[in-house]
Amino acid sequence: AKGAGKGQWRRYQAALHNQVLDRLELRAELDQAIVDRSFVLQYQPIVDLRTGAASGLEALVRWQHPTRGLLAPGRFIDVAEESGQIVPIGDWVIEQALADAAQWRGSGEDGPYVSINVSARQFSDPGFVDRALQRLAAAALPADRLVLEITETLLLRDDDQTRQDLARLRQAGIRVAIDDFGTGYSSLSYLRKVPADVLKIEKSFIDAVSTQPQQRALVEGILRLAHTLGLTVVAEGIEEEADRAALVAAGCRYGQGYLFCRPMNNPDVLTWLADAQV
Ligand code: C2E
Ligand code: CA
Ligand code: CA
Repeated sequence: AKGAGKGQWRRYQAALHNQVLDRLELRAELDQAIVDRSFVLQYQPIVDLRTGAASGLEALVRWQHPTRGLLAPGRFIDVAEESGQIVPIGDWVIEQALADAAQWRGSGEDGPYVSINVSARQFSDPGFVDRALQRLAAAALPADRLVLEITETLLLRDDDQTRQDLARLRQAGIRVAIDDFGTGYSSLSYLRKVPADVLKIEKSFIDAVSTQPQQRALVEGILRLAHTLGLTVVAEGIEEEADRAALVAAGCRYGQGYLFCRPMNNPDVLTWLADAQV
């Protein structure tokens, strides 16, 4: 038994060692990717649940890795956050997404907004707000065509800098969304003081809306409070028609999910918009 324990320990150490090496390698490769700009954005429509018309599109980053193919953010975002590489990657995401969104605007028409994920590390980087405002001006996109998605943990942070930064963005007309609402530890009542405009309800709450009365009641409660507070609500990860119907019945106006559309490359967005908005 003692020998087996020792073997297990060695295997554990070897695995840990490999993990550390993997992360170091990933980090070095990410440095190169930042120089080469080997990232791409895919976009998933946020639709009006009653009509299917696009209201906005969420930008989702992927890494075009030289040997491993197209990597989802789950494979590299946490490493990039830990190393700070998320700052230059995020800057690129904002620049590219704004350029793409400017392209979606029909002549004279407002066009859909673009919703961009911003990690806490990126948001608290000095100069983040200045750079975002500069890029928005350079893209000549109206401020209300930009939404920044931020997690509730960051929104709840009780420091002056965060409060000031959020206020500056919102004063400029940029909307702030609470991403993954429901996954944090905060209570519903915190919504009363949260400096945000949009609330995105996390997928796990949405999955059972049509089948579990308790889940449905919870989502209805979130919707009622959010609407009272003037927040726009977006339901995430809708896969079933029954869930869409239940959400509409509960008063939820907007949503996104595979039921409507998977994330797609920018060239396909214009085609999708033309088809979906008639
Ligand atoms: P998120 O912000 O919650 O984005 C939603 C994720 O759910 C996306 O995964 C999307 O492809 C996926 N999804 C959408 N509809 C459905 C559905 O109906 N069913 C299921 N099963 N999944 C659905 P993705 O693209 O892999 O992104 C994962 C996470 O990576 C995002 O979660 C976000 O937190 C982060 N992320 C993505 N792009 C960026 C970025 O540019 N910057 C930062 N900082 N984080 C990003
Ligand atoms: Ca998001
Ligand atoms: Ca989310």
